Amino acid sequence: MEIQKKIKEINKLMESIALEANRKPEEIKLLAVSKKQSIQKIIDAYDAGQRDFGENFVQEGLSKIKEMRELNITWHFIGHLQNNKTKVVAEHFDWIHTVDNLKTMQRLNDQRPKSLRPLNVCLQIKIDNEISKFGMDASEIPEFISFCSKLKRISLRGLMCLPAFRTEFEEQRKPFKTLKKLADKLRENGFNIDTLSMGMSGDYRAAIFEGSTIVRLGTTIFGERQ
Ligand SMILES: *Cc1c(COP(=O)(O)O)cnc(C)c1O
Repeated sequence: MEIQKKIKEINKLMESIALEANRKPEEIKLLAVSKKQSIQKIIDAYDAGQRDFGENFVQEGLSKIKEMRELNITWHFIGHLQNNKTKVVAEHFDWIHTVDNLKTMQRLNDQRPKSLRPLNVCLQIKIDNEISKFGMDASEIPEFISFCSKLKRISLRGLMCLPAFRTEFEEQRKPFKTLKKLADKLRENGFNIDTLSMGMSGDYRAAIFEGSTIVRLGTTIFGERQ
């Protein structure tokens, strides 16, 4: 099975990168980004032991979650979320990596069912000229954190970034280093965050070197998207 082999290969590779970077391999989670990939491919990855999957689109994500309800999958929402679609994420996902405004945060909190654990949230931060026009400025983080501390149905886990594409390893490290510094500063100030969602297929080695705890890989695992 092509994808099963890939998953094993990537896990090994991530482990060796972690060791090279003087980090513990178990601190870094592989998030398989399955947007625009078939259910069969997700099941193949699942059979290889993969449990965390990321989706970018509300409707596509929802239909996959429903179809694979029997499987023990942790679902992450990693796309831009419009305010009128927060309910699906609040009711069906375990994580969202891309919160960048207070209104979305409030709605996710209010719509999170009591029967579920609090929704895990990462704040999407603009570090440089990002691929995405979404994300907040670093200067807004304190306001978000104090707002979050009042929300019972949200568990603030950390920060996420989506930097512009770079090919050079040393260049790739720069935005990740910046995000890591922001997270360290928050921890010094007593905020209990444990997640840095950073690194994609083209730059995850640099991200792991700079402290990533979740790498989000799509094409490396599944091939080109449909
Ligand atoms: C699509 C996407 C990924 C995966 O990208 P690849 O280059 O295929 O690994 C990761 N993060 C986000 C936010 C994405 O939208």
